[in-house]
Amino acid sequence: MAVLVQKYGGSSVADVERIGKVADRVVAAKREGWDVVVVVSAMGKATDELLALAAGVAEKARAVSDRAKEAPRRELDMLVSTGERVTMSLLSIAIAGRGEEAISFTGSQSGILTNDRHFDARIIEVRPHRIEDELARGKIVIVAGYQGMSYRREITTLGRGGSDTTAVALAAALGATRCEIYSDVDGVYSADPRVCADARHLPEIDLATLSEMSEAGAKVLNAQAVEWARKSKVALHARKTSDPLARAGEAVRETVASAETRTSVRAIVGLDRVALVSGPSIEAFLGEAARLELPLLDVHVGPHASLATIPLLNLPDWTARRAEIAPALGQASLTHDHALVSVVGDGLLGSGGLARMAEALRGAGIAPAMRSGHALRLSALVPRASREAAERALHAAFVAP
Ligand code: ASP
Ligand code: MG
Repeated sequence: MAVLVQKYGGSSVADVERIGKVADRVVAAKREGWDVVVVVSAMGKATDELLALAAGVAEKARAVSDRAKEAPRRELDMLVSTGERVTMSLLSIAIAGRGEEAISFTGSQSGILTNDRHFDARIIEVRPHRIEDELARGKIVIVAGYQGMSYRREITTLGRGGSDTTAVALAAALGATRCEIYSDVDGVYSADPRVCADARHLPEIDLATLSEMSEAGAKVLNAQAVEWARKSKVALHARKTSDPLARAGEAVRETVASAETRTSVRAIVGLDRVALVSGPSIEAFLGEAARLELPLLDVHVGPHASLATIPLLNLPDWTARRAEIAPALGQASLTHDHALVSVVGDGLLGSGGLARMAEALRGAGIAPAMRSGHALRLSALVPRASREAAERALHAAFVAP
């Protein structure tokens, strides 16, 4: 039997009506003859709302105790993992209502095993026996994305946007024929189409480029998901949920991301909320960062000047971490109201890209705090408030001149 994995993002399951539309699509795929596994995100902005609730409770505690702390990561995982469980059961009910048999599973029931890092756990292994058993019984299997279980039997979550990772890791473990990722955009663009009106749709992309884009902030596919696709050779079809039902040969606008394609695309991506550590020496800081398992993106260590950037997206306890690293900073400084904007593509560094980047940003009245060049990416740190303007300026200079 051929396994089809479909993943639906939060906006695709935001309300009862949209859950019904997803159920229609899932049932149609089942009736075409596929073994269907559906991975769902939390409804709409449910994850943000749960996190705001936790922050509110922690904030109230600060008013009554001077020892109050930010919400513990473990408890955040217990809380936010419920978001996807709401969706999985509702979708299963919607499918049952349409006369097909469905069963929902949490991440741990699906055999998603992770390390013991809360809030941004990594999948170590997938043992999808229960899913396989239910598929063999003819059922549609619905899986709560974004979550797993650590080897200590703790509930973990996979970092923001982690439902993609669940979908790709499951597709790999099940030997799926197809993996479709549905969201409110019809694939990968040369920039965020909500920011750059002239962003170009990319029908095909290679996974090395896509991986670089995701690491540097592209939200269309989660970085860990792209990594799983690279390891397992699963091709990803990124599509828009509102597109008409079409699989058998009909034209659907999508992006196919696979290890086989060799594309040379250029794209602009932005990462909001990035901290910068810079100074004559950052060795002590790097030691502390390793101990605290801080995610680092760019790190440069030189004889006179060094720097490191820290994406804050998956650091719900940044205030506490910041206090912990303070003593290790020495003469280095820590600033944190930055965004990172990047141009992703081949051969940018050798062709004077960094100078062109500075010029484009200057033209938009933006002074970057630092720039860096890599094999597949040029990046600049800009003030958070200038991120979108910077993305537009770079798109005009590098993609659509
Ligand atoms: N609901 C989670 C989030 O908003 C995971 C996901 O959407 O993939 O980050
Ligand atoms: Mg979500």
